[in-house]
Order: sequence, then C-alpha cells, then structure tokens
Amino acid sequence: MSLPEGIKLAVKTKADHRARIKGLKAALKTEKVDAILVSDINSARYLSGFTGSNVFMIITPREAFFLTDPRYTEQAKAEVRGCKIRIFKKAFDEIADIAKGLKVKTLGFEAANLNFSTYSKLDKALSKVKLKPTAGVVGKLRQRKDAFEIERLKASASLLDAGFKAAMRFIKPGAVEEEAAFSVEVAMRRRGAEALAFDTIIASGPRGALPHGKASGKKIKKGELVVVDMGVIKDGYNSDETRTFSVGRPQARQKEVYRIVKEAQAVAIDAVKAGVKASDVDAAARGYIEKAGYGKYFSHGTGHGTGLEIHEGPSISPISEDVLHEGMVITVEPGIYIPGWGGVRIEDMVLVKKGGCEMLTNSIRDLVIL
Ligand code: ZN
Ligand code: ZN
Repeated sequence: MSLPEGIKLAVKTKADHRARIKGLKAALKTEKVDAILVSDINSARYLSGFTGSNVFMIITPREAFFLTDPRYTEQAKAEVRGCKIRIFKKAFDEIADIAKGLKVKTLGFEAANLNFSTYSKLDKALSKVKLKPTAGVVGKLRQRKDAFEIERLKASASLLDAGFKAAMRFIKPGAVEEEAAFSVEVAMRRRGAEALAFDTIIASGPRGALPHGKASGKKIKKGELVVVDMGVIKDGYNSDETRTFSVGRPQARQKEVYRIVKEAQAVAIDAVKAGVKASDVDAAARGYIEKAGYGKYFSHGTGHGTGLEIHEGPSISPISEDVLHEGMVITVEPGIYIPGWGGVRIEDMVLVKKGGCEMLTNSIRDLVIL
C-alpha cells in the first residue's frame, strides 16, 4: 500500500534473529535448564521472525528448533531464520521427539504463557523430562530493542503522531466519542497502520476521570477536557501516546491540572537515562504531582515498555525493580483523575539512551483548544 506524502517510514535494517537466539542461549545458563520451550507467540516472532501462530520453539545452548503446523509450512520457510524448522501433526509428540534427540533432562517453559491444559499435555508427552517453570527469560531480552526494532518503533510512533493530528479534526462540540474514535482509526489505517494497539480511549468531561475510558456514546461538550489515548501496530510494533485537549477555552483549574501533569511528565522524562531505576522515574512524576497537592488522584504507574506487545517490560512504577538500559523503549504517562470533574493524562514514548532519552512521539506539546 502506498503511503500519503509526508509519511516516510525509514525501515531498512534487517532483523538479526541469530543474535537474538544467541542472547537466549546465553541466558539459559542462569536458568539451570538444558533447553527452553518458547510458546509465547511474540517471543517466537522476536526470536525467529515468524508472524503466524501455533508455534513452539526449543532452544538449547547449541541448537534452535522452530515448530509449527502444516498450514504454515511455506510461511515458516519464507520467514524463519536461524532455526531448524519442524512441521508437526501432533505438537507434543514432536516436542518430545526433539527433547529426546537432544537428551534434554530439564526443560524450561514459559510459566506465564502455558495454560494448565497445555502443561498437562506436555507433561504427559514428556514423561521422562523434568518441566521447570521460567519467568520472563525472553521477555528480559525483548526489553532492550535492537536497531531493527528501534527503527520500527520510530515508524509506528510517527504514524501515531499523524493520527493525533487527524484526531484534532474530529474532536469538537457535539461529536460522539465513539464516532470520533472510528474516524481517527480510519485515518490511521489509511496512513499504513496494520491494526490498533488497543481500543482507542476518548474520554470527555467527567469520563476523563476513568484512566481507561474507552470511547463511548457520550457527546463531547464545549468546556470539557478530552483525554485521547491511542496506539497503532506497524510491522508488529506497538506505539502508545496520550494527549488531552480542551474543547473551548479552558477554565483556570483545567489549565492548572494540565500544567501540573505536563511538568510532572517533563521531570520524569528528564530522569530517564541508562542505569537509572525505573522506580526513580516514577518517583519523579509522582513526587511532583504530590507536591502540587494532587497525589491521591494519580492512581497508576508512570509507564511501561512497548514493543511487540503494547504493555511489556520494564515497568515504571513505585514497586518496579527494573533498571533502565540503553535501547529500552518506554512510555512516560502521568495523569490526574478527579472523580466527577475529569482528568488529564499526557503520554509519550521515549528511547532510553546513555545520558538521557530520545522522544519517539512528538505531536502537540501544549494544551490545544479545539
Ligand atoms: Zn496509552
Ligand atoms: Zn501506555
């Protein structure tokens, strides 16, 4: 599909799946397993390049196997890099066969991804193998984006920026939230978004007090603040951005709350750099809002990683134990939500660098009056 002029998506870098698999092989040592069974579809995409479903991967310190069913034979051949491909009729028999061939005694699995029914089938098929739950092994690797991923996340974010410019045309007095959301979605699809990252949030007036106020049948009225939180998927990569608009001239309190959130976001973004604790970035935003007297109205964490999933590690919250590293892409999204009154949230995506960070979303930096 051709893109409208002015939208340049500089996606040239090739993905280095071999390097990613190498990273996982190295991580296996600390997990004390002979091999790991990857069942998360996004982790499998990250490691192999495969964009289909019904996939397993088995990785040992020396070998990498990719397994899928016959529907995907051709697609696997075309997309998968750095692995031996096996097409299965019965997934668990194939896994057992590979495990036997590799003399696997302990097989790690992704505890957060394998449901009890699948686990039971696996356990039955691998009667001689010890199954060991692992947590976030591939997820940890996925937190730090490589050049290929950064390029795609930048493209996804700039598409979304264009979507916000379109949103400004549809948010006006008398517009219904869900109709405005639909119009913006069409605009973003036309510009090359393959899908939305999540249901678009358009929360006007008192609905702005709901941090996740999905667009509803409510009409937008003059004098209201409108929180718009959107995300698109481009080449598999999720972007995420929130802007708050004023429909008509803002009242003094609306301006004040907006200013506090904007400044809280600025101090948090200033705190972002490699080596910093994620909880310190949260504390920067939270501390600012608390000092301004609105602490009890900031009810969620300050941000999250984005990538092949819209919400992934690291977590930017008071209880996070994550440390920021170069190459992480995170959101910084403080907000103030006052029941019965409304809310303000401002969210941007940033790329963590050595001495600071780079903004990936850039549209509309001030309270725009629509
Ligand atoms: Zn968001
Ligand atoms: Zn977000």
